[in-house]
Amino acid sequence: MTDESDNSPPESDPSTAETSNDADGQLDVETDTGTSTGPSDLDDVILDNLDAGSDDPSDEASRGLFDDLLEGEPIFENKEVLRPSYTPHKLPHREEQINNMATILVTALRGDTPSNILIYGKTGTGKTASAKFVSEELETTSQKYEVPCEVEYINCEVTDTQYRVLAQLANKFIDKNVKLIDDRIAELEDIRSRARENTAAALEETAFDSLDDIEAEIESLEADKAEFEEVPMTGWPTDRVYSSFFDAVDYHERVVVIMLDEIDKLVEKSGDDTLYNLSRMNSELENSRVSIMGISNDLKFTDFLDPRVKSSLGEEEIVFPPYDANQLRDILQARSDVAFKSDALTEDVIPLCAAFAAQEHGDARRALDLLRTAGELAERDQTDNVLEDHVRQAQEKIELDRVVEVVRTLPTQSKIVLFAIILLEKNGVHNINTGEVFNIYKNLCEEIDADILTQRRVTDLISELDMLGIVNAVVVSKGRYGRTKEISLSVPTEETEAVLLSDSRLGDIDDVQPFVQARFDN
Ligand code: ADP
Ligand code: MG
Repeated sequence: MTDESDNSPPESDPSTAETSNDADGQLDVETDTGTSTGPSDLDDVILDNLDAGSDDPSDEASRGLFDDLLEGEPIFENKEVLRPSYTPHKLPHREEQINNMATILVTALRGDTPSNILIYGKTGTGKTASAKFVSEELETTSQKYEVPCEVEYINCEVTDTQYRVLAQLANKFIDKNVKLIDDRIAELEDIRSRARENTAAALEETAFDSLDDIEAEIESLEADKAEFEEVPMTGWPTDRVYSSFFDAVDYHERVVVIMLDEIDKLVEKSGDDTLYNLSRMNSELENSRVSIMGISNDLKFTDFLDPRVKSSLGEEEIVFPPYDANQLRDILQARSDVAFKSDALTEDVIPLCAAFAAQEHGDARRALDLLRTAGELAERDQTDNVLEDHVRQAQEKIELDRVVEVVRTLPTQSKIVLFAIILLEKNGVHNINTGEVFNIYKNLCEEIDADILTQRRVTDLISELDMLGIVNAVVVSKGRYGRTKEISLSVPTEETEAVLLSDSRLGDIDDVQPFVQARFDN
């Protein structure tokens, strides 16, 4: 999280003067309010300070080493606004989806159970941001009208087993219940102490007939509280975790919307038991009702669901289509107004970020990443403006980061195959074929004591690298010699090699020349 730390300067007081250098090099002081210090007053202030001596900490004369540096940040006003962790309160081009969600969920505010909702769309189409926005609105409104409606958000990429999902939910509701009980006990204790002083008057405004009744109620609440045992993060049988959650939710009347973001990850990792259990809860709950909102990047996961779960989860479906370049422009414009100093962006920056991201299946996350990275590159260049070229560099940098991440997480065998291809390219071999890769691959495996796969498997691994966009493999016909694959690298050689060599096993290979030589020997 260290790179998330806020390096921006402290918010400047809007009533103080903003200084900037004009084109003509003159120091120009703009004032936001009529009462601030104007240019002529400034001289007076400086003179006053000189009179007062130089050790007064509140004035210009005490400016230290960092003051100028802090102010000399011409690009960003608030970089956080461009980070994925920021939840915007305006979501252009998602009005329809947000309204659909609200129309379904408003049922909860009427005390009924909303239909389950399945939301899907590619990454970066605003699903999480929209869902969080709607859930905040729902909770605010429920508080306003004092209807018991609660939303629980779970990211299933992190919480990816049935045990963890149920434990997390159980503990959330146990906490809420305990808090509710504590509040109620405090209230009762208050009534009790007033009743001890003046029984009749104090009891009159309550539902209690006697002090004993209050005592009994407090005792019963204490007993309820003792029943709620926090679920440990591992160790209990799943049945027990489930019934803890069940009892905690059903402790009093309420409608609960459970948002399961990245729900496909949960199903992929742990099957559909969680969804099965959650979706049949309502038939057994006495006081409360549960409604599920599943969010997924990929609709295919529903093929792996029990048909009952599938139809229950998909009672309502909301699709988030990819953004087009124009929509991405609007999104970027809204954010950049807050994120950047005015005039920091040159005209072409936003359209270009939008165009690049539109090619990436309309991914708003990519668009924002590009804009932020372009700003950071401009900052590094110590220029006052973000230029089109910064966006192009940002695109390259992000693309490279992606490649590095993909290569870094490849299985060892694929890394060895890729390394063989790199060695061939580095030695000037063009039109590399599978046989050549295989020969080098075999030698590399021997060198690091790895299993040697068959040439057929290696051909498959090359196809996988092709699908990941790391190599390009085209089938060419060699006339009467049949067909072969011609392989070339689609990623930068040096950087990719560096990533491979950072792997502990491949890092052991020091002298690679003999392996390349070997291709002539076989
Ligand atoms: P998803 O969950 O579909 O992968 P997110 O909701 O996480 O996508 O959106 C990715 C990024 O783009 C987030 O930073 C989000 O705030 C931003 N974003 C997406 N759609 C919009 C929109 N319509 N307006 C403003 N920002 C958006
Ligand atoms: Mg998301």
